[in-house]
Amino acid sequence: MASRDFVYKKFSEFYSSPSTVIPKISMIGQREIGFLLFKEHVMLRHKSFESTSSLKRFLGETVPSDVYHSCAYYENPEAEMNKKIWLGADLVFDIDADHIPTPCNKIHDEWTCNKCGFGGKGVTPDACPICGGQKFETKTWACELCLKTAKEETAKLLNILEQDFGFSLQELHVFFSGHRGYHVQIEKETIKTLDAMARKEIVDYVSGLGLAILEDETKDNTRRQRHKISFSLHDFGWHKRLKLGLQNFVMNATKDDLNNAGVKVNYKVFSENREILLKRCIEENRWSSVRGIGITTWKKLAKHVKDLESAKIDTVVTTDIHRLIRMNGTLHGKTGLLKVGFPANRLENFDPLKEAVAFKEGTAKISVSEAPEFRLGDDTLGPYKNQTVELPTAAAVLLICKGRAEVVQ
Ligand SMILES: [Zn+2]
Ligand SMILES: [Zn+2]
Repeated sequence: MASRDFVYKKFSEFYSSPSTVIPKISMIGQREIGFLLFKEHVMLRHKSFESTSSLKRFLGETVPSDVYHSCAYYENPEAEMNKKIWLGADLVFDIDADHIPTPCNKIHDEWTCNKCGFGGKGVTPDACPICGGQKFETKTWACELCLKTAKEETAKLLNILEQDFGFSLQELHVFFSGHRGYHVQIEKETIKTLDAMARKEIVDYVSGLGLAILEDETKDNTRRQRHKISFSLHDFGWHKRLKLGLQNFVMNATKDDLNNAGVKVNYKVFSENREILLKRCIEENRWSSVRGIGITTWKKLAKHVKDLESAKIDTVVTTDIHRLIRMNGTLHGKTGLLKVGFPANRLENFDPLKEAVAFKEGTAKISVSEAPEFRLGDDTLGPYKNQTVELPTAAAVLLICKGRAEVVQ
């Protein structure tokens, strides 16, 4: 109770402070605004605000734990869903470490089935393997590796959107989500009225789903037929991505890389023929010109490269034309960190654990049950186990929000 009051107070101070600026949201009057309330822990939806200043006043009075706006524009944003009259929606992408299997999530992420109590480590399954339940308690952590992985996926997404879809970097609005991922948002007349199906096509492209060159074009699976099936790579879109990816793989792959790609070839043959594989196979499309490395191997490698080059987005977010997404400049209820926007060309140097820190003053005394070593701002803190410590406010709020600590009075 005291811990929740402490976090509530900090959020309240943040939203009431004259120095807090909620960045302008385009066409705010036509968007649905939603809130998750601290006290009742219920979702307040179908709200509408004329301006960000009236919204900010509301935030100071209500103090929600999380703030969302629709990516959609409506004639009547306050009406119930089927009476809103949809006018269009931004194109949004969500990249979240929750959906990317990283080597670290087996270490720091846990889930427990709400129904039967069965649990495990790593990425939360869609359904419980014991009882089929779909609701879980999760305990997660956003470590540097999670954040780095999410950033790499975002870089791939931005590259695809820029190179293959022709958006300019200025049109790609990039945000750190305040937890374990990034959002990319495009507000442009040409995409506003795309329906869910059209957005699914974009999702498939970005994810490399259903790439025709990787599917066998014939159902006749006799050995002789299979050897005839070939593919050639040109220099646009996914073909170009596969080509560059294959070149990179052929030049640098170790024995382990070949194993990970699931191909069984003689490593000596492979490594002694790198130049020839590059020239004859990838450049000239003569895929069977090195003995022992045939078309089946190349298709497996191409699939592997596709997995490396595609962007791991949360596909549901992009196709949902009514989706609520977290509002820029507001606090994340699971971390006390801010959702922050930055120019796409700053992605590589963007430091979420520094730039998303909202509470920059004071300290708080907390009792920590367990926390790994972590960095916040310029401080490296922890690891802690069953101990009382005095930490900078931002770190104390983070550990309390993560359910790892209680405030000490
Ligand atoms: Zn279960
Ligand atoms: Zn991690």
